[in-house]
Amino acid sequence: MKANATLLSRFFKLVCETDDWLSKGYRSETSAGQPTFERIEETLKSKQAPPESDRGGALAAIAEKAGRCTQCRLHMGRKRSVAGHGALDPVIMIVGEGPDEEDERTGAAFSGPSGGYLIKWLDAIGLSREKECFVTNVIKCRPPQNRQPSDDECEACFPFLVDQIGTLRPRTILAVGLVAARLFTRRTNEAVSSLRERAYEYKGIPCLVTHHPGSVLRDPSLRKPVWDDLKKLKGIIDGLDRRRVDG
Ligand code: SF4
Repeated sequence: MKANATLLSRFFKLVCETDDWLSKGYRSETSAGQPTFERIEETLKSKQAPPESDRGGALAAIAEKAGRCTQCRLHMGRKRSVAGHGALDPVIMIVGEGPDEEDERTGAAFSGPSGGYLIKWLDAIGLSREKECFVTNVIKCRPPQNRQPSDDECEACFPFLVDQIGTLRPRTILAVGLVAARLFTRRTNEAVSSLRERAYEYKGIPCLVTHHPGSVLRDPSLRKPVWDDLKKLKGIIDGLDRRRVDG
C-alpha cells in the first residue's frame, strides 16, 4: 500500500514537472519542492558584488563547494569539477555548456581547442581573455561521453553560476551554445541560430547569444554569424565604456 502511494506521488510529481516544462520551460517551486531558476536568481537581485579584493576568495569558495557537491548525478563520475576562471572585474563573462575531457584534466574551463579558438574571437574584438574575461560553464562537472547536460542537472548546478555572476557582476555576458543560450533566454524551443538574433538582459547585464566555439570548429559556415555577434558585442561594450566616461 505504502509502495503504491509512493509510486502515485512520484507519478503526480512527474506529471506536474512535465506540465511546468511544457508551459514555462522550467520546473516550478510547487511541483518539485526544489529551488527554481527564478527563486535562485532572487539571490542575485539582492546581492551586491563584493569589492574586487574579496572576489578571488569568494570564487575560490564557490569552486571548493562545487568540488564536493553531490546535487546531481554528475558527481558520480567526476574526476574534478571545473568552476571557471579569469578576470575579477570582467568586461565579459563567457558561459558555455560544461567541461570537456581536457577541461576536467587541466581543471580549467575552455582549455582545449574550443578555448584556443575562443581566444582568437576575443583578440579579434580587442579583449584579453586573462585580463578582461571570465570563462565558465552552466554545469561544473563533465557529463559522461560529453553528452549534453539534462535540464535537472542544469537546474541543480545553476546556483553556482548565479553566485559567480553575483560575485563578479560582469559588464556583459556571452552565452555560447544551446544549453547556455536557452538558460539565459528562457526560450527552450529555439535554436541558437534564432536566439542569437536578439539581444537580452540578464538581471540588468546585457547578454548576447552565439554558437559554441566547438560547433564553429566543426562547421565553418557558422563563422560569419559568430563574427556578426562579436561585432554586436563590441558595440555594446563600447557603448558601456562611453557611458562610463560620460557618466
Ligand atoms: S554538475 Fe554541478 S550540481 Fe552536479 S554535482 Fe557537479 S557541481 Fe554539483
